Amino acid sequence: MPSPQANTAIDVLTNTFGYKQFRGEQEAIIKQTIAGQDALVLMPTGGGKSLCYQIPSIVRQGTGIVVSPLIALMHDQVSALRLQGVAVAFLNSSLAFQEVQEIEGQLLRGELDLLYIAPERLCQERTLNLLHQLEIALFAIDEAHCVSQWGHDFRPEYIQLSILHEQFPSVPRIALTATADESTRNEIAQRLDLVKAKLFISSFDRPNIRYRVAQKNNPKKQLLHFIQTEHPQDAGIVYCLSRKKVDDTAMWLAEQGIKAIPYHAGLSTNIRQKHQERFLREEEIVIVATVAFGMGIDKPDVRYVAHLDLPKSIESYYQETGRAGRDGLPADAWMVYGLQDVIMLRQMLAQSEAMEQIKRLEQRKLEAMLGFCEITSCRRASLLGYFGEQYRGEQYQGEQREENCGNCDNCLEPVESWEGTTEARKALSCVFRTGQRFGVNYLIDVLRGKLTSRIEQFRHQEVSTFGIGSELSEVQWRSVFRQLMARGFIAVDMEGYGSLYLTEDSRPVLKGEQPLYFRKDVAKANKISKKNKQSRSTRSANLASENKEIWAALRAKRNELAQEQSVPAYIIFHDATLMEMMEYHPTSLHEMSQINGVGAMKLEKYGNEFLAVLNQYVTYSVI
Ligand code: ADP
Ligand code: ZN
Repeated sequence: MPSPQANTAIDVLTNTFGYKQFRGEQEAIIKQTIAGQDALVLMPTGGGKSLCYQIPSIVRQGTGIVVSPLIALMHDQVSALRLQGVAVAFLNSSLAFQEVQEIEGQLLRGELDLLYIAPERLCQERTLNLLHQLEIALFAIDEAHCVSQWGHDFRPEYIQLSILHEQFPSVPRIALTATADESTRNEIAQRLDLVKAKLFISSFDRPNIRYRVAQKNNPKKQLLHFIQTEHPQDAGIVYCLSRKKVDDTAMWLAEQGIKAIPYHAGLSTNIRQKHQERFLREEEIVIVATVAFGMGIDKPDVRYVAHLDLPKSIESYYQETGRAGRDGLPADAWMVYGLQDVIMLRQMLAQSEAMEQIKRLEQRKLEAMLGFCEITSCRRASLLGYFGEQYRGEQYQGEQREENCGNCDNCLEPVESWEGTTEARKALSCVFRTGQRFGVNYLIDVLRGKLTSRIEQFRHQEVSTFGIGSELSEVQWRSVFRQLMARGFIAVDMEGYGSLYLTEDSRPVLKGEQPLYFRKDVAKANKISKKNKQSRSTRSANLASENKEIWAALRAKRNELAQEQSVPAYIIFHDATLMEMMEYHPTSLHEMSQINGVGAMKLEKYGNEFLAVLNQYVTYSVI
């Protein structure tokens, strides 16, 4: 029911949602929107965008209309809000006519605080007529970057949303996105007539995500080891470039006893839906996917995103890794990367049939991505720097940080580098002496003086670079070649044979005029010390044994309730809320109401059940 004006934003935050405080810019955004002003909100995934339109919709007279492209997720969003006592419905193509009529009736009677609607539905004549008869609290345009024609999530229906300001000029509009770049922001403002709207830009830092890039040697095994040692009971996403690799990896993980399911555009709609649904609902599940998977996946408890292939740009990397840890609890962004990735991506670019201009843009994006992989300083600072944000080294978990974020591999275990000017010259010169038409393996054989039949065939045992590189192992030479390619001194042929040639930039290096330092690759891919691993304990695998039991019991209760109501477990309570229960051990309903995430309705519905679980474990008293 549209709530009486007396409800203030903070009341709704505490009573309905059960949170104690606003986060970051939420309060300012909500205030502005309640006052009837337009807003354009840029906030990272997990930043808390939803409350920015949900609370004003509840506080303001009339119904808040939320435009969201994610039909598949509307159902869960609406279930979650209903459990919190919000009067909400959705309109999309999945509904039967009778259901539609029912919702229209509720709207006309002014009974709904919020209505979720797909953009194509909104723009239909029938819907517009209906909306004109309603009191509308606001329009919220979620995933607003879908309006951007250059973006990866472009939805033509979003362009039509200009009718909102044309037909409803007096209704406030709030557009929200987690896409950080300036051109997208400008496009949103233009197309949705929000040029004059107040702009709210939050920091795009995700302090709870730990960024790690490891050298690829046996990717599947590395992945398995990572999952088994660090996230045995968690939900995660594994990204691969090709459909085939997705299928292979998912099958292999399943054979190793990991609950893994594939997701890519080659699977039938039915299977895709089923797998997405399973991922949202189940815990301890791994989805292996191509980039086709993910937009708007708001499963809050994804504990890691693993990349087995290099994303094509920093934007993609940031977006994909951003799906981890929306609940604010520690999460990992883990990637393995190696020489072969560089070769493959360089080849793809060389063969791309895109227009010259687009190719150059893709090229620049790839360079930035490679730079990110090879960097020896803070990855977080580099990532934020790419989006034009200076990393301020904010407080995280009570510690002040400056240049060192304390939560990326480079900050946790400083990278060693070595002076490799001579080695670089040897490598480049070997490319040149053998005629710039051979691949890495061949070149390494020549450098290390290995007399293969192929080398004999080309009589390359006679070139001056034969055998001049025996001081480095094959692995070390691969590292040198990878870094030379990543920095653009060596290019890959267009034909796809993987033969290397020198770029213009290599000249000063070849002549010895430019000193070069290389990253010392760690032999062990998962090298994050024990100490750092353990400080991140969130899940039963790492909890003290007594807590382990409580944790398991709380989760079991949550699962039981979730199954009864056929909703995902996180809709009952988020992990963060269960963690707080475990930590503060409330013993009364009043104490329970103080836990973040326990609002009035959930307190009434579930309070006693969770108290009963906790009660079983109060074995000693503090006195
Ligand atoms: P976004 O849409 O920006 O990705 P959400 O709106 O889904 O983020 O919020 C992310 C998580 O943070 C959710 O679990 C949400 O319940 C929680 N959250 C949002 N605002 C607050 C707050 N003020 N206090 C505590 N938790 C919050
Ligand atoms: Zn760092």
